[in-house]
Formats: sequence, C-alpha cells, structure tokens
Amino acid sequence: MRKLISGLLLAFLFLLACSTKQGSSPAPDLIVINADVRTVDSTTPRAEAFAVSGGKFAAIGSTDEIQAMAGEDTQTIDAGGVTIIPGLIDGHTHLLMGSGLATGVDLSEIEDNSEWLRIIREKAQTLPEGVWILGGAWDHTLSDGILPTKEMLDSVAPDHPVLLQDIDGHSAWANSLAIELAGITADSPVSPGGEIIVDPDSGDMTGIFLESAGGLFSGAPGMADATNPVAGIEAAITLANSLGITAVHDMSNSFDEFLNVLDNGNLTVRIWQGARPPLVIDRSPADIYAAMAAERERVRQHVSANPQTESMGTLFEIGYTKLIVDGVLSTYTALMKAPYSDNPDAVVEAFVTRAQLNAMIAAAHDYDFPVAVHAIGDEGVSWVLDGFAESPGKAGMLSDRIEHIEIVTPDDVQRFEALGIAASMQPHHATCCVGNYVIDRVGRDRLPNAYVWRSMLDTKVPLVLGSDWPTSPLNPLIQMSDTIHRETRIDDVVRSWDEGNALTFEEALYGYTQAGANMTTWSNEIGSISVGKWADFVILDEKLPETVGRALENRYVTATYLAGTQVYPETTKE
Ligand SMILES: [Zn+2]
Repeated sequence: MRKLISGLLLAFLFLLACSTKQGSSPAPDLIVINADVRTVDSTTPRAEAFAVSGGKFAAIGSTDEIQAMAGEDTQTIDAGGVTIIPGLIDGHTHLLMGSGLATGVDLSEIEDNSEWLRIIREKAQTLPEGVWILGGAWDHTLSDGILPTKEMLDSVAPDHPVLLQDIDGHSAWANSLAIELAGITADSPVSPGGEIIVDPDSGDMTGIFLESAGGLFSGAPGMADATNPVAGIEAAITLANSLGITAVHDMSNSFDEFLNVLDNGNLTVRIWQGARPPLVIDRSPADIYAAMAAERERVRQHVSANPQTESMGTLFEIGYTKLIVDGVLSTYTALMKAPYSDNPDAVVEAFVTRAQLNAMIAAAHDYDFPVAVHAIGDEGVSWVLDGFAESPGKAGMLSDRIEHIEIVTPDDVQRFEALGIAASMQPHHATCCVGNYVIDRVGRDRLPNAYVWRSMLDTKVPLVLGSDWPTSPLNPLIQMSDTIHRETRIDDVVRSWDEGNALTFEEALYGYTQAGANMTTWSNEIGSISVGKWADFVILDEKLPETVGRALENRYVTATYLAGTQVYPETTKE
C-alpha cells in the first residue's frame, strides 16, 4: 500500500514537472544573450548565450536557443555583444597582507608623486577625521628618486593619521599627526635594523621610518580598528570581485578571520587556502601536520554547516600547505646554482635545510596536504623538485606545486613534467623587474631561464597564473596582458624580450581559470563556462578582438557573478 501511494506521488510530481515550459526542466533563473562568450571549455570554446539555474550553468548555445528557454520569471541580461569569460582564479594571493591597499590607498605603479598626493587627499575626504589612512606601495624610484616627507602628507591630509608602506615593505612614510599619535620622537628607541630618518640640518624627523622603525606605530590609538583583519579581508574581496576574480589560492594562513567573513555573508570569492607551518620548526613535522589536519577538519565542518555552501558551493577550504625555501632575487636571497652576476660574493642562506624541507614534504603528504613551495632561484627550484622526487604524493592526491620559479634550468623544466609538479607563476614579476634588476642579478646568459611560461606549457607542465598581490597588481587583465607582450625596460628602452616565452590570450586565460581550478578539488565545479558548473562569470566592457593583444590591460570588468549571483557591482552584500 505504502509503495502505491509513493508511486502515485511520483506520477503526480512527473506530471507537474511536465506542465512547466520546456518539458521536464523548469525555466532558468537567468539567461545571458548576445554575448561573445569565451568558455575555456574545449568542447564549446565560443558561444553567444547561456542559461543559469540554481546557481549553475544550465545550458550554453546560441541566443535563439537560450532565449527559447526563458520563462516568466527568468531574468535576462542582453550583453550587447561584449565578451564574457569564466570567473577568474588567481593562483597566488595574500589577501590579508594586501588589505591595507584595499581599505586605504594604492599608489603602486604610479610614477608622479603629485598623483600620490591627489589620491591621498581624495581618500581623506571619504573618511572621518582621525581615522588612519594606510596602504601605500609607493616607489620613489619611479618618481623623482627622492624619499617623500611628512610635510607632503600634512599638506593633503592634516587631520588624518597617515602611514604608508613602500612597494618593498622596507620603508614607512608617516605624517605629523601619525607621529604625534604614536608618541614618536627623533630619539625613540628602535630595534636593530630599524632607523628613524632625521634631517641632518634641522634634526627633525622627515617622516620616513626604515624597517623595524615602522613598528613604532603599531600601538597607536585607532590603529587596531584600522587594521581589523575581518574588515581588511572584506575590502580585499570587494576589490577582487571588481576585477573579475571569483576564486583565489590564498596564502594568508588565516582561518577564523575568513570564517567570520563567510558568516557575515561577505565571502564572495572562493578561497583555496594554504596552511603554513610555524616559521621556526619546533616540533616534529608529523606533529605539525597532525595539528594542521585537525584544524582543516574543524574548518571543513564550519564551512559545510553554512547554508551558502549548498547554494553557492564551497567558499573556503584549507586545501594545501605552503612552504618557503628561499628569498628573492632583488635582495640576493634567492638560492642560485652559480653566483649572482652583480654580487658574486653574496652568501645566500636557505630558509630551511634540505633535510627539513624533505621531512616537511613527507609529513604533509602523510596527512594528505598537497604542497606548494616558494622557490625563486634555480637552485631553490632544484631542491624542491628533489624533495618531491623523494616523497611523491599518494595516488589520487592533487598535484604539488612550486611558486614563482623565476629562474629554472631546462633540465628542471623536464623534471616538473616527469614528477607531475605544477608551475605557479606571476607574470608581472617578469615585466616589472627584468629590466629593473633581474638582468643585473643573473646576467644575460641566464636570462633565457627566466620566467619560462611557454617552456612550461610546451613541456606539458600545468601552468597556474596569479598575481602574488600585494607585490604586484591584483588585476588579472594586467597580468594576462603581461604574458602576451613580455615587455620590460632593457637598456632604457621598453621592449619585448624572449618573445618565445610569451603566451597567447587563450593560454593566459586558461592559466587564470581552469588551470587554477585543476589545483583544487573544484576542477569539475568551476574554471570554465560549462553546463553543470557553478555560474561564476565576468562581463567585460567591450568585445575582445579575435587576436587579443596588449590592449587587454585597458579593458575592465562591468559585472562579476558568483554562482549566478551578481557580486560586482555590489547589490546583494549588506
Ligand atoms: Zn607570495
């Protein structure tokens, strides 16, 4: 009897479903028509239109086909012919570290220091008096080469304390109110390595605080509010959405702060988070990763209990662990096989011993953490590949990866492929800095081993692109454009170099979408405009030409959608 009733019920439900338009499937929630859709799905690379139901792509096709699916309650976006791409996935960010740029001012890449002051004045006008203005990323070597002064800030923001970091994070620039609030005098004690710069004639502070001297501001009144990590992450996420980013591989190593943002309903970027072990390895690697695995499980349960996980997919996951083997080329701290060309006596100390590195990789794998290791010099990259060769991940685990890989030997490129290691590279680090200092450091003979994006692809190495924000622009259109033009300042002329390693737009877009998805457990859920995936997509301001060139960096995003919900411009966030 009970069986019969349920059989009747099923028949009734079937009839109900058939009575809606289009036979068995209900009308979509949203259709997008008259678009130039670049799907990043090789089965249907281009389309005119798509439909979204329940937050997922339900159909992809011509405008006529998709329009025919619309019902009474279907929302229609007529794209007017512009290009639509999948939600962008940044393969390497530090959202928390960059939050000052998102909440405060971003002066990166701006050459004219009067423009810095205009931006700071404008920011001050939006904030109540007394509220700190943070951020910065200024670079005086781009302007007149002279360090800025507190008086410059006083002239545009006298009623707001201002503290702005330079692009390398080695110098802080403050105004008079900030110095006064922090109670700093020219004689304040500074820890080793730090310095308060004073004018040699007057003995007055200039407003520049080097290295640890910048820490003198940390306890100043109002600073704790200004650096609230939850507000900072929310601002960074809003900025990311405005640039078309819907997912990042983040290295902030902050869990509860992101869970807070999730619970606030403001986590509108999917976060694939890297867990970092303590800088000083004071326990056995197994103990460290056992604790991290427990933390991963706690976070997973918190996220899966959030209703948005059901309606939008997973928005936060501790997906891998991040290790560091060396420093950077600019300060001669990257591990190189041969001496630095412009400083052959530089003594480089690795951040870990090879034995420690190998033990950490092995323990991470034991606890099912894929491993991402920062390695910039060719010797650093070799160390990490050796470590992966010694302790390969278990069958079925996500790929391990190396971050940055600024210099790598051709033999090691082959080893990436042989060992199944992914290359996670940041295009703007090449275009900003090859002519700036990289040629000096490595010499022209090693330059063909620098930023070898195409060599990786040609060798069938998965290439994941990202920004390393805040050390380079978060804007993916700038980063992708960099891979296309590969221009840098060489011998005082801005020109392309080693064009053989440039990418096409299609390759760069793959590196900024599906390639990033493939490094996560979400490879079948995001990364392309494909039926069944979450409807993460980005509407650009224009139709891109058939062959996309450098002009890509001038395009901008007019709308960003996450799981079919518009997240930029903001309409749903409170
Ligand atoms: Zn980084």
